[in-house]
Formats: sequence, structure tokens, C-alpha cells
Amino acid sequence: MNIQRAAVIGSGLMGSGIAQSIAQGGYSVALYDISETALQRSLQSIEKSLLRFVKAGQLTEGTVEQILGQIETYHDLSEACADVQLVIEAVPENLDLKKQIFAQLDDYAPAHCILATNTSELSVTAIASATRRPQAVLGMHWFNPAPIMRLIELVKATDTSDEALQAVEQFSHAIGKETVVVRDAQGFVTTRALAAHILEGMRILEENIASREDIDKAIRLGLNYPMGPLELADLCGLDTLLFASEGLVEAYGDRFRPPQILRKLVEAGHHGKKTGKGFYSYEKK
Ligand code: NAD
Repeated sequence: MNIQRAAVIGSGLMGSGIAQSIAQGGYSVALYDISETALQRSLQSIEKSLLRFVKAGQLTEGTVEQILGQIETYHDLSEACADVQLVIEAVPENLDLKKQIFAQLDDYAPAHCILATNTSELSVTAIASATRRPQAVLGMHWFNPAPIMRLIELVKATDTSDEALQAVEQFSHAIGKETVVVRDAQGFVTTRALAAHILEGMRILEENIASREDIDKAIRLGLNYPMGPLELADLCGLDTLLFASEGLVEAYGDRFRPPQILRKLVEAGHHGKKTGKGFYSYEKK
């Protein structure tokens, strides 16, 4: 199957970046969100991000208009899904919500359309069970910020067909991304490895072994990682990390137990960069 147009469901942090990546890759994209404000915010953040590419000399101002022109926003799910060959869902990490959306997508999207979820760690097989086309459902796990990060982790669920997987693999390469194919196991490869790294960084902080700045610096400069675990946690969203670690505990046991410091920050509403406070404070410009 040849994917020519895609829909992205949910225009938050990830949905915005995914829609932008698809448009930058030269394809048209329908962007849907339940919230009008989220859609407006998304278009603004996409424009801001594209202008950063211009500043870096990677895009011209003319192309920004062209790329923005490839993104159409929708307030109606059935309209957003008409005439697309791929739908990528990026709504909050909640299994019931995702299943409910997939049941709707199954009704609205064309029969041949592939349905992908950007879940970081939920069971893709369970999400697929909400549809009558589990063979056309797979995980398409993007990374933040989507327009910059090179990888898409493709998750083959129990019933995912090779055809659907190949079509999404080809599409991912066509928009300039690299892919890996993984089995549908809790946390796949990347969420599991990322959680282990970040949670250990939090435990090191809790044990007072070094300051948060020095923990991040040690990992950045000593291990040559682009970011330290605590700054990375703030970028990912502490609420998201707490949720992910709880799921990983269920699958793999105590080694993914969320540290108290993470729990308390989330309880206080400090979810990282997106709320202005997490392990670090972020001044609003
Ligand atoms: P987010 O909260 O920034 O965005 C979610 C968006 O979904 C919001 O705009 C919200 O209005 C919208 N939404 C809520 N209910 C909806 C509905 N019924 N229909 C349509 N839209 C609805 O969340 P996010 O960080 O973009 O995460 C989205 C998904 O991507 C989650 O599954 C998350 O686990 C996954 N993910 C997140 C990251 C990350 O770094 N944040 C990385 C990879 C994957």
C-alpha cells in the first residue's frame, strides 16, 4: 500500500511534532484534536519550530509557508480520517481512551487504512482489539522532539500484518526517519531502557550522591549522552514517566519502582518543562 496522506489524532506535544515531520517530509496531513485551543497552540508551535529550522539554515522562509500549507486542522474526527491511508493516534496515555478512539477510527477511516498508535508503553495488541482490523494496527513510537529525532520504533502487535508493517516502514523512510521493528512487549526497547536510565538518575539524586546539575553533567560529559537523566525527565514529562514506570513495575517487577521524588513532584503538579517546573524551573518567556 502506498501512503500519500495521513491523519494525526491529538495535537499535543507529540501530535504537533508528528504532523510537522510528515508535512516536512512532503506529505499532506490532517490534524485533529478534541480541543480547539490545542489545535491553535499546535499550529503556533509548529510555525515556531519551522522558523528555528530556517534560523539554522535548514529551511527557507518560502518552504515554511509550503509546509504549513500541507497541514489541515479538523474538529471532526470522521472528516479528518476520510481519504487517508494512515492514521497516527497521539492522545494521552490511557488504554481506555485509546481503545475508544480506535473503535471510532475503525468506523470512520477507509477500509484499507492503517491505524497506528504512538503509545510509549501500552499494549498495542490490546488497543488493536478495539477494532475489526487488528491486522492493520501497529505501534508507531516517535520521540520528542519528533521533527529532530531520527528514530521511529515500529511495534508489531500479535495480529499486525507484514503488509501494514512494510507500508509504514516505507512511509517512515520516505519522510526521512530510521526505523526499528520490535515485538509488542511492555515498554518495547526504548521506553524500557529510558525508564531504567532516568529512574536510576532520580535514585542517585534521592541518595544525595550529587546535585541534580552534577548528575546531569556527569552523564552528559562522562557518558557522552546529549542530555542528563533529570533534564531529560523534565522534557519527557514527569507524569508520563510515573505512569510508564508503574506499567513497567507490573511487567518486570521492582526494578522499575518509581522513586518517591518523582511521585511527590507529580502530586505537586510539577510535571517538568511543560508545567514550568520539575527537577528544574523554567521561566516563562
Ligand atoms: P499531550 O498531553 O501533549 O497531548 C495529547 C493531546 O490529545 C492534547 O492536545 C489533548 O487535547 C488531545 N486529546 C485528549 N483527548 C482527546 C480525544 N478524545 N480526541 C482527540 N484528542 C484528544 O500528550 P503527548 O506528550 O503528546 O503524548 C501523546 C501520546 O504520545 C501518549 O500516548 C504518550 O505516551 C506518547 N508519547 C509521548 C512522548 C513524550 O515525550 N511526551 C514520547 C513518545 C510517545
